[in-house]
Amino acid sequence: MSDGPHGGHPHRSTRGPRGPRKQSGGRGRSGGGGGGRSGGGGPSLGGGSGGPKSDGRGEPVPAGLPTTEFEKFELAPNLTAAIAAAGYIKPSPIQDAMIPVVLDEKNVMGRAQTGTGKTAAFLVPLLALMDEVEDATPDGAGEPRGPVRILAVAPTRELAIQIATEAVKLTRFVPVRTVCCYGGTPLDSQIRALKNAAIVIGTPGRLLDLISRRALKLEELDAIVLDEVDRMYDLGFRDDVDKLLAASKNRRQTLLTSATLNDDVERLIAKHVGEHERVIIETNTLTVEAIDQQFYFVDGRRKQDLLMAVIKELDPQKGLVFVRTRFSVDRLTYQLQQRGVGAELIHSGLPQKQRERILQAFKDGKFPLLIATDVASRGLDIDDITHVVNYDLPQSAEDYVHRVGRTARMGKKGAAVSFVTQDDGLLLTAIEKLINKEIKQNSFPGFELAKPEAKKPEAKKADRPPGVPPWASVKRRRR
Ligand code: AMP
Repeated sequence: MSDGPHGGHPHRSTRGPRGPRKQSGGRGRSGGGGGGRSGGGGPSLGGGSGGPKSDGRGEPVPAGLPTTEFEKFELAPNLTAAIAAAGYIKPSPIQDAMIPVVLDEKNVMGRAQTGTGKTAAFLVPLLALMDEVEDATPDGAGEPRGPVRILAVAPTRELAIQIATEAVKLTRFVPVRTVCCYGGTPLDSQIRALKNAAIVIGTPGRLLDLISRRALKLEELDAIVLDEVDRMYDLGFRDDVDKLLAASKNRRQTLLTSATLNDDVERLIAKHVGEHERVIIETNTLTVEAIDQQFYFVDGRRKQDLLMAVIKELDPQKGLVFVRTRFSVDRLTYQLQQRGVGAELIHSGLPQKQRERILQAFKDGKFPLLIATDVASRGLDIDDITHVVNYDLPQSAEDYVHRVGRTARMGKKGAAVSFVTQDDGLLLTAIEKLINKEIKQNSFPGFELAKPEAKKPEAKKADRPPGVPPWASVKRRRR
C-alpha cells in the first residue's frame, strides 16, 4: 500500500467507537484542535459566484417534519431532520447499501447508476460521523469551525456545485460550513471561507492550488471522496488525484464512486485505498429502465432538420441536446434561435458566471432547450429533464450512459433520442453492448435511411427474472 490510509482505521481520533448516540449534546467536544471558534459569519460559498449559499450556521429544527425511513440508521436528530426537510422519505438502494458501510468507517468503492442518490449515500454517513452533527442541539446553534474533515473531489465544476448543494441541504440544522472551490472564481473569498470550513468540495486543480497556498490543510482530514473517479482519470486528472491522496495521507476513510467504475480504474486506484468494500448496485442495464431510448438513422447533413421535426413532435418541456464540439454548440444554438426555437447553450468556453446563469434559467424553465457539450453530461442535477437528444453521439459509450442519465432521475420518466449517422455504427454497437440493451430504431417520414453498416451483435439476454426491478440485487464483496 502506498500513501493510502493505514489499512485498518478503527475510529475517528476524536471519538471512541460509535456508541449509542446522545439525544442532546453536551456541547464543546473538541474537534481535534486547529479550528477554534470564529467570530463572524462566513461569506457565501463558492467564492461568491453561484453555488450553494450558507454561512455555516445551523437553523433551529422546525416542528412537524415527517418521519422517514432514514430513522433506521439511528443518525443524529438534526441530520435526520435535514433529510426529512429535503423531502427524502425512503433511502434509495445505493443509500441503503452504502450508508451502513460508511458508518462503520470502512473504505468504499461504490458504483451505481446516475441520478440514484449517490451523493447523499456518502454525505449522510460522513456527516453522521462528525462531532458537530452528533452533538447538535435542536436550535442548531454554534459557530462553524475547521479544520477540514471531509473533502469531496469532483471532475467538473457542475458536479462540485451539485455535491456542495446537497451538503448544504444536509447540514441545514448543524453549525457546519461547506465551501465549494473550483477554478474561474475569485480565490480570495474562497480562502477566507475556508478558515472555518469542515467540508470542502472542489475540482482537482483548484484544490491543489489552495493546498500550495496553505489555505487548504488536509492534515486532520477524516475522509476523502473521489466522485466520478473514472471521469477524473479520463480527463487527465490522474496526477492531481494522486497528489490530493498524498496530501491527505492521515485520512481515515476513502470513498470512491462512479457510475461506470471499471476494473482498470479500480486497479489503478486500489493501491491508494487499501482494504475496502465494494458497494455495487447490480443492474442488467447501465441506463435506467425508465428512460425510453431510441435512435434515428440520419444523413449527417440533415440532422438539424430532423431535430426541428423531433422538437415539433415531442415538444420537450426541458430538453438537453448534446453536441460534440463547442463550435458546433455555438452554431447549432444560433441556427435554432434563428428558426424560432427557445434554445441556449452551455460549454466550457463560457465564463463560469454565465454558465451558472444559464443553468439557473434552464432549471427555472425560462427556455426549453439547452444545447451542450459533454461538460454538462455529469453532475447536472436538473429536475424534470424530459428529453436528452444526442445530436452527435458521444465519443465513448460511457459518456452515453452519463448523458442519458440526466433524465429519468430518482424514479421519474424520460426519453433519450440519438441521431446516428453512417459513420456511427460501431459506436452504436459499443453503446448497446455497454448498456446490454438494444436501442429501438425509429424513423421520421422524409428522413428514412437504412440502418448503419456495423453489425450489431445481439444484446445479451437479461438474466433478471421478470418483475424484479433493475436494482434488486445488491452485491457487496470484501476484497
Ligand atoms: P444524485 O444521484 O446524488 O445526483 O441524486 C439525484 C437527486 O435525487 C438529487 O436531486 C437528490 O437531491 C435527490 N435524492 C437523493 N436521495 C433521495 C431520496 N432518498 N429520496 C428522494 N430524492 C433523493
